[in-house]
Amino acid sequence: MVRPAERAMGIEYAIRDVVLPARELEKKGINVIRLNIGDPGKFDFQPPKHMRDAYCRAIQEGHNYYGPSEGLPELREAIVEREKRKNGVDITPDDVRVTAAVTEALQLIFGGLLNPGENILVPSPSYPPYTGLVKFYAAEPREYLTVEENGWQPDIDDMRKKIDEKTKAIAVINPNNPTGALYEKKTIKEILDLAGEYDLPVISDEIYDLMTYEGKHVSPGSLTKDVPVIVMNGLSKVYFATGWRLGYFYYVDPEGKLDELREAIDKLMRIRLCPSTPAQFAAIAGLTGPMDYLEEYMAKLKERRDYVYKRLTEIPGVSTVKPQGAFYIFPRIEERSKWKNDKEFVLDVLHGAHVLFVHGSGFGKAGEWHFRIVFLPPVEILEEAMNRFEEFMRKKLS
Ligand code: PLP
Repeated sequence: MVRPAERAMGIEYAIRDVVLPARELEKKGINVIRLNIGDPGKFDFQPPKHMRDAYCRAIQEGHNYYGPSEGLPELREAIVEREKRKNGVDITPDDVRVTAAVTEALQLIFGGLLNPGENILVPSPSYPPYTGLVKFYAAEPREYLTVEENGWQPDIDDMRKKIDEKTKAIAVINPNNPTGALYEKKTIKEILDLAGEYDLPVISDEIYDLMTYEGKHVSPGSLTKDVPVIVMNGLSKVYFATGWRLGYFYYVDPEGKLDELREAIDKLMRIRLCPSTPAQFAAIAGLTGPMDYLEEYMAKLKERRDYVYKRLTEIPGVSTVKPQGAFYIFPRIEERSKWKNDKEFVLDVLHGAHVLFVHGSGFGKAGEWHFRIVFLPPVEILEEAMNRFEEFMRKKLS
């Protein structure tokens, strides 16, 4: 038997891990409503036509070669323009790197930044790669609390307590997965002040930046003076192209504090060759093209969010904060006597109601006794899911 690497064996990804028991039920012919994966392409959302056309055209016109490791110059230019419009950042194409989506950006940034034994502050609850990938590099993801009673805003005092001499950066996910929180400008300023005090960079995941229902996203990149910020974004959510695997990151670093890190990350970028070339042509079309599709899509999503939120407020045994961004809702299990933990709860719902959620503890310590629902499907499907879930809860609690 070949012995695998321990660093790989320890990796967990709750969102996909729960699919296995769901598949077992489906094999028996049972219809399971899957509300676990945040993939708009599985429902009635597609990337806009001008992006799909540009992708096909790039392939037909022969753009099927390796590109530069840092990304095509025309795309890096388009990213600068998009980010100047959105965040008012003072960057040039030289500050931009194109990646195989945000997930690869995380691999590259963590890989370039973290030595074994060092740590990075990540939100709790948080999107699982933030803990899994950091651990893969033998570093420690230190979870800082976000506070449910305060709309899941980060707890700055807790963040401060978690910093020590081995801390290398503060990661911020806003709008947040799994909570749907949208951070206030004041909170972003406080995070930047704290980072400045300890001379730490901020790593900002903005993949849901234009997906907000109330309020607007504020980037630390737009507010920073001297604190270096690495902003990540991509095509997966706002441009509805999850399967194209294209994203980017850029450095807002007026004082050049990240120069050595940039060199380390560039080395990593060269050994992984380059991101998909034709997908980059689609990205240029998306970033420079019309955004009217987003209004229509956000109206659909808002209706779905409002529907699920309303239903959840009527279901016994759970309570819910209304998400302000992204397409997730993260209810709390109030009635706990029937289950050992949130994972058992989610499996019980799966077997009893044939609806698939993700257990909150899969997103970190602060996610315990919660579960995540993806509200991407049309209202008819959400209605059936909520009917099944409500009946399940009423029976359980009667
Ligand atoms: N970052 C966050 C916060 C996410 O929720 C997700 C996907 O759900 C990703 C990154 C993954 O993005 P990508 O498809 O660009 O790798």
